Amino acid sequence: MQLSGHAFAPRSSQRCEAFFHLEQNEVGSQQWVLALEGQRFCYPLQDVEFSAPVGNMPIRLQLPDGRMFITQRTSELDKWLKSQQRWTLKLDWLERHWIAWLSSGILCLVLLVSGYHYALPWVGSKTAQALPERWSLLIGDQVLDTLDHIYQPSQLSMDQQNAIRSRVAGYLEKLPVMPFSIEIEFRSSPGESNAFALPGGKMVILDDLVAMMENPRQLDAIIMHELGHIYHRHMLTRLVQSSIISVAVAVMTGEASGVIDNMAGVGVFLLANQQSRRNEQQADAFARQAMMRLFDDHQALAKAFERLKQQPGLELPQWLSTHPDIEQRIRDAQISP
Ligand SMILES: [Zn+2]
Repeated sequence: MQLSGHAFAPRSSQRCEAFFHLEQNEVGSQQWVLALEGQRFCYPLQDVEFSAPVGNMPIRLQLPDGRMFITQRTSELDKWLKSQQRWTLKLDWLERHWIAWLSSGILCLVLLVSGYHYALPWVGSKTAQALPERWSLLIGDQVLDTLDHIYQPSQLSMDQQNAIRSRVAGYLEKLPVMPFSIEIEFRSSPGESNAFALPGGKMVILDDLVAMMENPRQLDAIIMHELGHIYHRHMLTRLVQSSIISVAVAVMTGEASGVIDNMAGVGVFLLANQQSRRNEQQADAFARQAMMRLFDDHQALAKAFERLKQQPGLELPQWLSTHPDIEQRIRDAQISP
């Protein structure tokens, strides 16, 4: 068998035309011979390593003296490799057997999907719990700084704000211990009746939400819902998860081009939507239980949801409108915790 190709000197990218063939040495055993530029280099049969054949890609021969020889794949070489080193053909076999490829693909997909559904939420929640409190506070402050470019200062009087703050402080003494100290911030965004929890224990309440509630108990029910998010560290967990997805996609694909960024974005979006529903249910459950403990009645939660739903001409708050199952949530809020 005579192979033609190119040889590379050790640690050099300079190539020169060369030939490689098998011949018998003086003691009668076979050896490989590399012929280039009028020189001959001999190698014992077993000391030459062949790269695994993949499609039409050239075969790389690693020689014991550090040289490399690259040749095109031929049927003669295939036959020889098959007879000598079956294991090197494993990859090639896979490539030629699409059922095996397909099964591997499906297996990868199953691993990816189960990792996404089970491992990622678990890792996200564990990481969020392990993050130092200082970091969570910093992230929360950063988010609030950004939001302050959109929101205006609250129009509520200091007395009104402090009345709500001291009510909540009183409730907190009777509720499960929060992972962070709770700080309530008031802002205004005309037309937006909303409240939300930030990582690190800050909660933002918008003026229109306060105005929309029929009584303090209804507002408290919404605040309990937000406390539920803080208690379960939902925002932090989502932030950690979205960071993991972005890094994982970059690592898996080895690049961070715009397309890949978008893929990561879609992943984050899907995860956020799928998990936000579970998070909302957890926060609702926390609110119901808290209301029962504080007032022995949680109907105010259902009333608050109905109030938000029935406001004519007003957009539903984002955390409510993203979930079409508001009716179900109202029903859940009406039954016992
Ligand atoms: Zn919520």
